[in-house]
Amino acid sequence: MSERRFDVLIVGAGHGGAQAAIALRQKGFAGTIAIVGDEAELPYERPPLSKEYLAGEKAFERILIRPAAFWAERSVEMLLGHRVASVDADARRVVTDDGATFGYGNLIWATGGSPRRLTCSGHDLPGIHGVRTRADVDAIMAELDGVQRVCIIGGGYIGLEAAAVLTKFGKHVTLLEAQDRVLARVAGAPLSAFYAAEHRAAGVDLRTGVTVDCVERGDGGGLSVRTADGGAFPCEMVIVGIGIVPAVAPLLAAGAAGGNGVDVNAWCRTSLPDVFAIGDCAAQANRFAGDARLRVESVQNANDQAATVATLIATGDAPAHAALPWFWSNQYDLRLQTVGLSTGHDDAVVRGDMAARAFSIVYLREGRVIALDCVNVTRDYVQGRKLVEQGASPPRDRLADAGVPLKELL
Ligand code: FAD
Repeated sequence: MSERRFDVLIVGAGHGGAQAAIALRQKGFAGTIAIVGDEAELPYERPPLSKEYLAGEKAFERILIRPAAFWAERSVEMLLGHRVASVDADARRVVTDDGATFGYGNLIWATGGSPRRLTCSGHDLPGIHGVRTRADVDAIMAELDGVQRVCIIGGGYIGLEAAAVLTKFGKHVTLLEAQDRVLARVAGAPLSAFYAAEHRAAGVDLRTGVTVDCVERGDGGGLSVRTADGGAFPCEMVIVGIGIVPAVAPLLAAGAAGGNGVDVNAWCRTSLPDVFAIGDCAAQANRFAGDARLRVESVQNANDQAATVATLIATGDAPAHAALPWFWSNQYDLRLQTVGLSTGHDDAVVRGDMAARAFSIVYLREGRVIALDCVNVTRDYVQGRKLVEQGASPPRDRLADAGVPLKELL
């Protein structure tokens, strides 16, 4: 069988992959482009999966990144339902798990990651779900009618967002978090305490500092999650939201440098010739984290890295990727907007009234603003961006005064 070859081959039909193709055409790239994706669907937005899509408020068509006609009009070939199993960087080709081979001029690896699974006994029982794809969420929704009690494992954004939706559905939700607070990986202690209190007030049985020992079949065909401290949580459904494993095995096997993700330089180049990586799977030095190499898991990051690579391929030149990270999360009637990376902060200043459910937390390191979490205060989020970008060091008492607009503190 003759091998098909594309000037740009994108692996992964998610946020980064779609945006790379869109940006290539916007930059005037006239070569052939194909996207190989292992899901059956055209690229769609993932954030609604644990929000409006799970809540039944948005149909799938409304979360497509672009309608089908868009890709055809721009001659972006969609090779869906194929999983790339190996990469031959010398021959410049990939092989899929169903035996198809595709050659490339440039390869853009945009594969995200798969949900980290439990490893304890019972981890694969029916009724245990991850939340990464449309198929995952459709499977949850299909079972929900027969479910009264849901046990969510993991108190990160996805677990908390799912808890908010399922509580609204009238399900009894237990949320188990191994660390001593929710959102421990991404936010400061005051924000964790605020969200824990909100979820408890909404009826979630939220427990921290508990590790899951095993999942067993419970009475009457249900499940029971057992914890190391002797707890047992009977339920009909388990949702696991404990992070992702970056989908980089084929690239690493081909010789790309990496470990937790594939290592890329400031232009998202891997160590393999003409192979780029973007999005959740790409580990890059980040100037907003003191140049530490890390993977940023956000739509903004996937889109901005895609733009960098597309510009480089289309024009031969591009500024190094140095975009300011931002993120959002919707839970109940709370809209959280985050800018910057708070990891490594040594001070956190609360602006506004947490009890009024409209406040911001400003994170500082050595007196400089490195990030903000803004809950129902979009103005702080918008104005705070500049403080982070410039590493401003305003007086603490002025920062804490919600009556002082942040733009006055530059
Ligand atoms: P993805 O969008 O995951 O796309 C990767 C694609 O590659 C997938 O379709 C995958 O199946 C496919 N793939 C993997 N391996 C292969 C292979 N070998 N061959 C072919 N295809 C392959 N971010 C925010 O900024 N705000 C939010 O509110 C937010 N909420 C989220 C809620 C949920 C439920 C989830 C799951 C994520 C959320 N995120 C949010 C994170 C955001 O969706 C990701 O950061 C973003 O999707 C990353 O884009 P990506 O292109 O790197 O990966």
